Amino acid sequence: MRCPFCGHEETQVKDSRPTEDNSAIRRRRSCAACASRFTTFERVQIRDMIVVKRDGRKAPFDRDKLARSIQVAVRKRDIDPERIERIATAIQRRLETSGEAEATSDAIGDMVMEALLELDPVAYIRFASVYKNFREATDFEELVGKISEQLRS
Ligand SMILES: [Zn+2]
Repeated sequence: MRCPFCGHEETQVKDSRPTEDNSAIRRRRSCAACASRFTTFERVQIRDMIVVKRDGRKAPFDRDKLARSIQVAVRKRDIDPERIERIATAIQRRLETSGEAEATSDAIGDMVMEALLELDPVAYIRFASVYKNFREATDFEELVGKISEQLRS
């Protein structure tokens, strides 16, 4: 695999082990040219999925992009990165086994919100404020109401 830092073609695998939930293999790699280290993941992909955006444009489903959007929402919240990985994998599997070749970005956003509501209320509000765009004050009240319900149950 090519080095992301210097572009050298040859990198060595230093360590290879399954992630905690056994859904992926994590490999620590080292570049023979610049000695930079980085990690790659080998994951199961059952099939390719297409995401349909709000404006109708289509793009291939990108699991890493999904994981990054969740990481942004949980920033500084002291949440185990493996839990983010598990959420991303669970959503990917749900899409792959839905029987549909396409999913809307709204449907995926709802799945993330569902998962974050259980994971962390702050991350939930952060994700929702970006994703739902909080056009109206009532949107925010509705969210807070959902969180209160979740905390009571
Ligand atoms: Zn390099």
